[in-house]
Amino acid sequence: MTNDSLIQPGKFPGTGTTIFTVMSKMAQDHGAINLAQGFPEFDGPPLLRERVAWHMANGHNQYAPLAGVPGLQQQIAAMIFELYGSVVNPGRQITVTPGATEAIFCAVTACVHPGDEVIVFDPAYDTYEPSVELNGGVTRHIPMAYPDFRIDWQRVADQINDRTRLIILNNPHNPTGSVWWEDDIESLRRVIDGSNILLVSDDVYEHITFDGRKHLSLLSYPDLAERAFCISSFGKTYHVTGWRLGYCVAPESLMREFLKIHQFINFSTNAPLQYAFADFIEADPGHHARLAAFYEEKRNTFNKLMNESRFRLKPSAGTFFQLADYSAISDEPDTEFATRLTRDYKVAVIPVSVFYQRPPSQHIVRFCFAKHDETLGQAAERLQAL
Ligand code: PMP
Ligand code: GLN
Repeated sequence: MTNDSLIQPGKFPGTGTTIFTVMSKMAQDHGAINLAQGFPEFDGPPLLRERVAWHMANGHNQYAPLAGVPGLQQQIAAMIFELYGSVVNPGRQITVTPGATEAIFCAVTACVHPGDEVIVFDPAYDTYEPSVELNGGVTRHIPMAYPDFRIDWQRVADQINDRTRLIILNNPHNPTGSVWWEDDIESLRRVIDGSNILLVSDDVYEHITFDGRKHLSLLSYPDLAERAFCISSFGKTYHVTGWRLGYCVAPESLMREFLKIHQFINFSTNAPLQYAFADFIEADPGHHARLAAFYEEKRNTFNKLMNESRFRLKPSAGTFFQLADYSAISDEPDTEFATRLTRDYKVAVIPVSVFYQRPPSQHIVRFCFAKHDETLGQAAERLQAL
């Protein structure tokens, strides 16, 4: 008997390695510019990094409290009040987590019983379905249609039944860059009215919206907030994805259930980083407010460069991603096209079909533009050759 057979049957027979890991490795193997996996090419603010070093050197190296360091919970609560006008209890409604990824898993685990149905919208971020399935839930996929990638609320209404436990929302949306309008809030309200459906709102790009658009957080709407886990990521907002830090905000009753899961997955979250963020947000409370303009400029730079290519860009209203249609260049499936682009043109991208249960017949890849202008320029030059 080999070690390999000891683990069989595995829990996740059809599952491989995530597309982000696959494409980053491929980029590295081929020496390609990595516009695939979504991470900024910039380090976090110098003061933030200094505060991490300071707290590590000054005795903040042991377990943080289960739900987070109080000073940071307070800063998060203040930010939520400033942005969304919502008063949340820092100690009872906010849990700091090792990234949004863990928060999503904890929230789903806290809600989903075997046989429960969970609605997600395709193209869907890749952790949602595994989180549901590991809990014995059933994922119901509702496609969002090109080119607007808005939610078809009638399809949601048609899908809801008495087994529907949860809807996972993602706004601003990865990979499409679509951002909710006020009527999406109204429609959500209408379809869940009278039900016990809970909401997980993945808001990791909440500070990155363009062209004057504002992020509509469920936290601004008390009737929706009372049934929602709202999740964000310090990695995205402060350019430090490798630090693995995020948080979840929920009503007390939901947060109590969330914490029962979180305590056995991670117990608590990296202490010195939390102290450092508490200091940094207090010292520079405007950081998040500058992010949208920063990335809007990146988007515009990238769009201008790419307009010289044969890719057709889908306008991005938020996030640091840009979809592009390559049907004028090739009719290859997107996974093959992405591989060829990485290998032969030295630019790595994400094929969008992997985020669908039933991929539509479209030829679209995702670029990440969270890069220095020189990197975007170099990549565009290579892409213009196609
Ligand atoms: N949700 C979405 C939509 C994301 O794009 C990401 C990652 N970038 C995450 C969740 C996970 O965030 P984190 O790195 O904080 O775990
Ligand atoms: N969220 C990032 C993206 O969409 C990747 C995160 C990861 O690799 N886990 O590219």
